Amino acid sequence: MTPILAIHGGAGTMRRESMTPEREAAFHAALRTCLEAGHKVLAEGGSAVDAVTRAVMALEDDPLFNAGHGAVYTSDGAHELDAAIMDGRDRNAGAVAGILGPRHPILAARAVLDSEHVMLHGPGALAFLRAHGVEFAPAAYFHTDTRWTALQAELERRRQTALDTRDDAAKHGTVGAVACDANGNIAAATSTGGMTGKAPGRIGDCPVIGAGTYADNATCAISATGAGEYFIRHAAGHEIASRMRYLGESLEQASSIVVAQLGEIGGSGGLVAVDAQGNVALPFNSAGMYRGTIGADGVAHTGIYREALRVG
Ligand code: ASP
Repeated sequence: MTPILAIHGGAGTMRRESMTPEREAAFHAALRTCLEAGHKVLAEGGSAVDAVTRAVMALEDDPLFNAGHGAVYTSDGAHELDAAIMDGRDRNAGAVAGILGPRHPILAARAVLDSEHVMLHGPGALAFLRAHGVEFAPAAYFHTDTRWTALQAELERRRQTALDTRDDAAKHGTVGAVACDANGNIAAATSTGGMTGKAPGRIGDCPVIGAGTYADNATCAISATGAGEYFIRHAAGHEIASRMRYLGESLEQASSIVVAQLGEIGGSGGLVAVDAQGNVALPFNSAGMYRGTIGADGVAHTGIYREALRVG
């Protein structure tokens, strides 16, 4: 098997006119760094589950992306982070929802994966994570001026508009990774702050196994980004796996059909997907999706808009 890794850093409107060449270059460079971090694990013979963990940690560290440091704020100005990871070998999964504390929420999800539980939230989750030696960071670590300003703009927009004119596509962001390792095992990991100005207590699709995160060696590994409520209601990740399993569709067919169907009903977003043969698909129905792939040659391919991926 030739190992391969794919990542995303969120999907959304990403208007070209508000993107400077410098900012665009910064996104490509950041995606490259995160791809290389995950690729290193695969190149050293590591497992898919370790590679997606490493890639998502790197994405969480970068404030350009909505996860970990630089996550978006809830409507009351707090951080509530969701993360999940799934191992396609045995469908073991771990997820945390609405937490604040662990420096890398994906390591919190990983600690849950390594336990008898699948999903933890609330004070019990934090106690569990502390007891399992997961590193915590002070609340200030997660703050960025950019996200705070985005929240103020969103709250102001709500004050100005009587109608609910919310533009989900403008508020997206999430990070995720999928990988197939040298043994043909696949895994998925996703981490997010959710959506700017989300209601306190709201949980998105990211930590819901079978919605925003899913992995099964028999079909596919999926990490999604977008208007989470739609991905939950349509069990997006599991739906793609089901189409492959029962209709015999390819990864490319199944994932692009589901993403297109979500788009038709208002569920903007996209996802990254791999199967155990090392095929990759990166479908999205929004204007853009920060994304990239890296194969055995270690050369990163990155993209933002609807265009061929940039090499190296
Ligand atoms: N899917 C995430 C959520 O609904 C947000 C996103 O990917 O933009 O929480």
